[in-house]
Amino acid sequence: MALSGLEIYKLLPKTNCKECGQPTCLAFAMKLAAKQADLSACPYVSEQSKAALAAASAPPIRLVTIGTGDKKLEVGNETVLFRHDKTFFHKPGLFVRLTDKMPMAEFEAAVAKVKDYSIERVGITMRVDGIAIENASGDAATFAGFAAAAVAKTDQPFVLMAATPAAMAAALEKAGTAIPLIYAATAENWKEMADLAAKYKAPLAVRADSLQALAELAEQVKGAGVEDIVLDPGMRDLHGSLVALTQLRRLALKSNFRPLGYPIITFPGEGADSVQDETVRAAQHIAKYAGVIVLDHFEPAIAYPLLTLRQNIYTDPQKPIQVSPGVYEINAPKPESPLLVTTNFSLTYFSVAGEVEGSGKPAWLLIVDSEGMSVLTSWAAGKFDAEKIARSVKQFDVASKIARQKIVIPGLVAGLSGELEEELPGWEIRVGPREAIDIPAYLKAWS
Ligand code: SF4
Repeated sequence: MALSGLEIYKLLPKTNCKECGQPTCLAFAMKLAAKQADLSACPYVSEQSKAALAAASAPPIRLVTIGTGDKKLEVGNETVLFRHDKTFFHKPGLFVRLTDKMPMAEFEAAVAKVKDYSIERVGITMRVDGIAIENASGDAATFAGFAAAAVAKTDQPFVLMAATPAAMAAALEKAGTAIPLIYAATAENWKEMADLAAKYKAPLAVRADSLQALAELAEQVKGAGVEDIVLDPGMRDLHGSLVALTQLRRLALKSNFRPLGYPIITFPGEGADSVQDETVRAAQHIAKYAGVIVLDHFEPAIAYPLLTLRQNIYTDPQKPIQVSPGVYEINAPKPESPLLVTTNFSLTYFSVAGEVEGSGKPAWLLIVDSEGMSVLTSWAAGKFDAEKIARSVKQFDVASKIARQKIVIPGLVAGLSGELEEELPGWEIRVGPREAIDIPAYLKAWS
């Protein structure tokens, strides 16, 4: 948790020598608190104070990286309990558990299936983040072989899951440079697992059955030189995991309790009695407050809703996803093709554009800057009115693209047609469907 100016001041020499460029130590402290100065500007601050200030400026939940390259996953570094307080920053990684008891061909096909799956929503490509490989065989050499196969088949990050340090060591020898997440250090094996994590500079998950034991284990692992830690509080049922994950987030953010200031890993399939149950648990973990989620099942019907939920929760509530205002051409429109208008809220744009595209009918789509709001919301907020639509028609020189001055407004704002006639003299204002799903029928009847 950040220190206040007065708290920083207590750690400074208080000689007011001005060498830092500030008239007093207090002024320098205020600059530091506002992040407008660097501590190195004071040559007299003690090593002890430096250490205290560095510790205080560390994020309450450590940022942990799994994997390397473009597809590496960063989790943690969250600053709020509730999304609406600010935003959630680092979306939880979704991993699919595979085991080293699978036939190798089946394993490789599953790795490829996870890697190749992607879906586009509101212009953003969403993916599952990687796989987790479990040492279900109990054999170190077999586990190492599967780790090597994963490295050969995918550039996505992955999790290595083994109970014994010997199996983990064998797998890391094949895959350590890919910086996998090591799962897991326990009260029995933490020393060996911590040594492996330190050797390969890989993040290490710690697992215990109480928060007290988890905090102690995390401190032991940290003392052994591992900074990047992921927590498994051991709870698997819906209620227990919600309580544990909420307590962990609160302890990290509200109490600044450093031993538990790390991202959390969950296993929604463990204890679930169906795929649907697992999906519901995963949805809860996305909302509160997982950093890594290991699924036992992977199908598009499971992945799509979870990715959509994740996308919705991890967008900034102050900044709706938007598309650029302008005139969009759909299905190669000609001058006589209809002109539709809507707002620049991404969901609105992609709903309308998708229906026009799916209809097979060519059309022009004028997108008005509504500050990312949907049709009714922006109309109510005065961001999508006749004046603004008319201004966009002129700004994007729409008249030069179409043969007939006709414009179709959304049915939800039919009341704008009179005002728009005044703003666009000589134009015919038509009222389109209220819902995007009715656009294809509307376009087919267009004349
Ligand atoms: Fe105080 Fe250090 Fe600045 Fe001198 S250089 S005024 S001791 S903060």
